[in-house]
Amino acid sequence: MTDPDPFVPKGKLRPLSGQTCGYFPRTASGRCGMPGAWHIRWDKLDNSVTCDEHMTVIQQQWVYDDRHPIGADCTMPGAVWLYRDRKCEVPGSEAALTESASGEVRL
Ligand SMILES: [Zn+2]
Ligand SMILES: [Zn+2]
Repeated sequence: MTDPDPFVPKGKLRPLSGQTCGYFPRTASGRCGMPGAWHIRWDKLDNSVTCDEHMTVIQQQWVYDDRHPIGADCTMPGAVWLYRDRKCEVPGSEAALTESASGEVRL
C-alpha cells in the first residue's frame, strides 16, 4: 500500500491557540501536538506550526513559501511574516516599524 498520505496542510488547523505541531497523521486519532519547532508559510493566507520530525516530512512532500524557527510572535494575532529576518513580529514593536519603513515587509 503506497497511497499518498492524505494530510493536506493548507487551509487546515490554523493554530490560533498555541504553537504545537498541526500535523495530522493518518494513523493517529488527533493531530501531532508536539511543541512546534518550525513556522511554515504556505501562501499569503495560510501558515502552520510543525515539529522537527514533521518538518522533515513536509520538506519531502510539499511546497511551501517560506519557513523559520518558531518564535515568540509566531501565531500571535496580527503578526507579520519577515522573510529576511526569518521570524514573525507583531507590528507596533520598534523593529517591525523599522522593517516597514525600509520596505522589507513583503506581505
Ligand atoms: Zn509533529
Ligand atoms: Zn513565524
